[in-house]
Amino acid sequence: MQTYLITGANRGIGLEMTRQALELGLRVIATCRDPSSAAELAALEGLLDIQALDVTDQSSVDALAATLTGVALDVLINNAGVMATHQSIDDMDYEEWMTSFAINAIAPWRVSVAFEQHLKSSSRPRVATLTSQMASLKRAGSDRVAYRSSKAAANMAMRTLALEWQAKGITVCSLHPGWVQTDMGGSNAALGVVESASGLLEVIDGLSLKDTGRFLDYEGERLPW
Ligand code: NDP
Repeated sequence: MQTYLITGANRGIGLEMTRQALELGLRVIATCRDPSSAAELAALEGLLDIQALDVTDQSSVDALAATLTGVALDVLINNAGVMATHQSIDDMDYEEWMTSFAINAIAPWRVSVAFEQHLKSSSRPRVATLTSQMASLKRAGSDRVAYRSSKAAANMAMRTLALEWQAKGITVCSLHPGWVQTDMGGSNAALGVVESASGLLEVIDGLSLKDTGRFLDYEGERLPW
């Protein structure tokens, strides 16, 4: 029985990955900031354990790691993320930029490191962090600098963690889910959430140490940094 921990599981891609993982018979520790208002998540059936987690709050992260002491984590999916609303040259909210860094760039490291012991108890531990093709330096664009820069920082943090943890047998990858119809992606996005989530879960299922430090999309294609 494999155990997955997913952050930001109350809506969007995180909710759909949780739904599909449960359908596959996996045990899912689904985390969100406020479980009391996560009705869609609570309605899911299967080996589901819903836990409170604000990925930017060290005491929240530590409390969950302590609650789960002794649990072997096969997969940690750092899915929680945010898209700033004011992030253009003419209309910049610097606080939002800082928040973008806290959630998108620093939290995946914070959460991964807190769960190192749980991951080490698995025979094939994997950390998958959802970043974005918009973080690629090769595909740089002129818009959404808070999002692009925070996700690029996440990519570098995950690349560093991959090198740090290679000898410990923990695989660490950055994943791009596609442009997906969620609150963040909007209704005009190219991809449905079901297709994105199933692709991501398939890619994650197949990850092993030979893949560590890679940046892949939801179809398993390698992306340029
Ligand atoms: P949504 O905006 O639909 O959902 C974001 C999730 O992150 C919510 O569950 C939200 O919780 C959670 N979250 C935000 N901040 C925190 C926090 N501090 N602690 C815990 N949870 C938090 O986004 P998507 O589902 O579309 O995106 C999922 C991931 O995929 C993100 O990392 C995103 O950047 C990435 N991505 C998405 C793309 C797309 O097209 N949709 C494209 C490329 C990457 P709450 O409800 O409490 O706010």
